[in-house]
Formats: sequence, structure tokens, C-alpha cells
Amino acid sequence: MIKIHPIEAFNDNYIWLITTNTGSIVFDPGESSNLLSYLDKNILDLKAIFITHHHFDHTGGIDDILSKNKSITVYGPDNNINSITNRLQDGDQIKEIGIDFEVIEIPGHTLDHIAYFSENHGDPILFCGDTLFAGGCGRVFEGTFSQMHESLGKLKNLPKNTKIYCGHEYTLSNLEFAKEVEPLNEIINKRYNEVSELRNKGIPTLPTTLSIELQSNPFLRTDIQEVQNRVFDKFKTNKNEQDVFKAIRQWKDSF
Ligand SMILES: [Zn+2]
Repeated sequence: MIKIHPIEAFNDNYIWLITTNTGSIVFDPGESSNLLSYLDKNILDLKAIFITHHHFDHTGGIDDILSKNKSITVYGPDNNINSITNRLQDGDQIKEIGIDFEVIEIPGHTLDHIAYFSENHGDPILFCGDTLFAGGCGRVFEGTFSQMHESLGKLKNLPKNTKIYCGHEYTLSNLEFAKEVEPLNEIINKRYNEVSELRNKGIPTLPTTLSIELQSNPFLRTDIQEVQNRVFDKFKTNKNEQDVFKAIRQWKDSF
């Protein structure tokens, strides 16, 4: 039995909670109040916290959670967050609540950014913080555009049926931009309508899957000729993937 539940935080963050028969783990608790009351109400035993990167909206709740239970393990990258107990690197393997995770380093949004991937309970699952979003990707704050492009390339190589749990509900605005990049892509138009309906009802649009992203996320489609041509027509940049990625990311920043 594995259950993955979103806890809403701030305006548009998701704190992902996984529960199995042996306990619960949580990803990126930017704040603690909704999480702690959910754990209490459902009598869940939190065993570990997983951090993807140092930003406050992903880490701000750690100390409060630890103040209630000091024995919780905190996994995360090697960064300035003192409460991380187990610092991870690319390729590290972790087992918690019966699930094996592999660590993938994906710098770009921040230099410390990592993702957690597992494929031992049904469909593969990925927790990727602010690197890959449904229909989009994170801003490049600390790394370079080519680092971010390379990191997304690593995620692109995962199994297509991977379920992707992102850190924010940005899907609708991302797809609005995707429509601008590929006006003739019917899959994007259809997805935009479906996502609008979900958001009107207040339903999360996540998880997404890699398969859906490959068909409708412009940041994973820099190898597609229509995308390259569109960027060339608009910005006269080279049509190689890295330059196309940089142009699309900068275009989105001011969209
Ligand atoms: Zn972030």
C-alpha cells in the first residue's frame, strides 16, 4: 500500500506526503501547520523529511516539525540548511518506509537541487521540486541555462510512465505559455482546457507523467523542429537545443 497526498502550502506550493504500512515521509515542507494537523488527524507516524533544494518555501517548516519529534531523519542536498541530517549526492540510494529512492542531481534552478526517483512500487515516481513543472520548468536562479537544460535532459531519460510530483501548482499559466510557443499543438490546447476545468474546481493538476510532459512541455521539446523554428522566427537564435532552451526560458521570464 502506498498513498501519496498533497498538502497545500502558501499560495501554490504542494508538500507531498507518502504513507505506507510502515509510516510516512514528506517532501519539501515549506511550512508545518497544515502538515502537522493532517498527520495528527490521520494518526500518521512521520519518519523522514526529504528536501530538494534550499529555498525557504521548501524548507521553512523543518525546524517546527523537528521540535515535535527530534528522531525524524532529514535528507537533503549539501547546502546551508543546518537541520539536514543526511546529505546526499548523485546516485545515492535511500530506503524509507519500504520505498527505495535514488538521488539525481539536477542543478540550474539552484545549484544544490536534487530529485528523488523510485520505481519499486507500481509506476515509477519522481519528486523534482522546482526543476520540472507540469507544462514548464523552474526559473534559472543560481545555475546556468545549459546546466538546467542538462538537468531536464536527465529527467527526460526516465521511464515515460513516471509520475511526476512537482513543488508548485503552476500548470495553467505554464500551458498558457506553451500555447504561445506551439500554437498548433492540439495536445497542448486540449490539456489547457482540461487543466482549466480542474483548477475551476480547485483540484490539483498533479501528478503529471513524463509521457504527457514530452508531448506538451516546451522545455522538454527543444529537439522538436516546430519549437526550434518558432524560436528562430521570434528571436533569430541558433536552432541548437541549448540555445533554444535558453531563448524559451528567457521568453517565459517576461511572459
Ligand atoms: Zn525554488
